[in-house]
This record gives sequence, C-alpha cells and structure tokens, in this order.
Amino acid sequence: MPASTPTILALDFDGVLCDGTAEYFGAAWRVWRRLRPSAAPDPPRGLVDRYARVRPVVEHGWEMPLLVMALLAGVGEAEILERWRPEALLGKLGRTRDEIVAVLDGVRDEWIAADEGDWLDHHRFYPGVIHRLRRLGGGPTRVVIVTTKEGRFARKLLVRQGLDLGVEDVCGKEAGRPKPEILRELVEPRSPARSLWFVEDRLKTLEAVKSTPGLDDVGLFLAGWGYNTPRDREAARGDSRVVLLSLERFAGDFPAWVKA
Ligand SMILES: [Mg+2]
Repeated sequence: MPASTPTILALDFDGVLCDGTAEYFGAAWRVWRRLRPSAAPDPPRGLVDRYARVRPVVEHGWEMPLLVMALLAGVGEAEILERWRPEALLGKLGRTRDEIVAVLDGVRDEWIAADEGDWLDHHRFYPGVIHRLRRLGGGPTRVVIVTTKEGRFARKLLVRQGLDLGVEDVCGKEAGRPKPEILRELVEPRSPARSLWFVEDRLKTLEAVKSTPGLDDVGLFLAGWGYNTPRDREAARGDSRVVLLSLERFAGDFPAWVKA
C-alpha cells in the first residue's frame, strides 16, 4: 500500500480530469465523412450516446472512425465491448492505420484552426476535479499531467479553468515517450522520501506500469469514472497493486484514497 500522501501526483488527462467524449465523437464523425463522402452531414440521432458507451474499447486514434463504422453497421454494444476487433474493420474499409491517423490529425487541425473555442468547448471537466487540483496548489504535492494528448491543449483547457500548470508539469504526446518511461523519469532520483502516485483510467496502461522495472513503489489508481468497462473495474478490485478510485474519493484527501 502506498504512503498516505504522495510527493508527486501524476494524472492522466482524458478520462481522469477531462471528459473529451464530445470532441472524440466530433472528430471521429468528421473522419468518417472524409472516408465515406456519401455519409450524411449529421450523425444519426443517438449515435453519440452509443459511441460514448463503447468508447472504452478505443486504444488508438485510428480506431475512432471504425467504432462509428461498427455502430452504423448495427453491431451491438455488448458485442463491441466484449470482442472489439478493429483490424478486421480496417480490411473492410480498405484503409491503413496510417491513412486514418493522417485524416484524423488533419480534421482536428482544421477544426481547431477554424474555431478553437468550439473545439475547447467539446471538453468537459469531471465534477470536482478542478476544485481538487486548486486545493493542491501551493501544497507539498507536485501535480504532473501525463497524457497522450498534445500537452499544449491540456494546458490550454486547464488555463481556461484558472489553473496554470508549468510546461514542465505537463508531459504530453510531444514528449514521444510511453507513460511508464515518463513515470520512471519522475521518480528519479530515487529516495525513500519521494513517493509517486499515478491515476489513470486505462487498466492496460496501469498493467504496463506494473510490469516496468523500477516502478514497484508507484501507487496505482484506476479512475473508475473514466473510459473503462465494468470488467476493467472488476479486475482492478481483485488486483493487489491497483486501487479502484471513485470520483468522490478523488475529490477527498489522500489518506481516504488508500483506506480499505
Ligand atoms: Mg485516459
């Protein structure tokens, strides 16, 4: 069990601090329309809600429009959550991952260039997280955002909430290194007085940290409110290393996080 207060709190951004489902879906729909120009300009009613429910299966950006494709084809949500096989859909679509990534990066850049405010508005912070981060300001715990989003966008979204984290405290996609590696840099130089806690909503990422040498002392928390499935949360409950965290506990003081 980790110490009762971390010296460094590393936080994932999407699915921990911020719900970007609306942006995700908006970008995915734009990509889908590029790939299938015959698609209607607006998505069918209710598609965004179905998309939000199966969102946890997405690991990489190129899977986003494929999820739209599967839902439009009538694949059931349970089927997607249990057996998501995006590679098979790639074949059907006749595109490569790299092609889809290029289209995705392009539509995002165009969206931001055309109306950055609208793009930022498609992100919503989870209730209480901004208040929690404010309370940590000036305290003994250093907060570091570790995200696969572009760091400048994470910073921009936080600044809009009145939170101005330094460039050195936001490690984004531009760092070009996997999260376990960034965490390892954060825990160096090792000392008994230095403790690191990491909150993440993807179980697979926490598992990658678990299997990375040198990170045995890192406290691992699965954000139960983020993009994970009931099965992921059940696995976290049965895991001796990972603590399943609720949003209520996250909003509270550190000792409550690790209380049985
Ligand atoms: Mg996340």
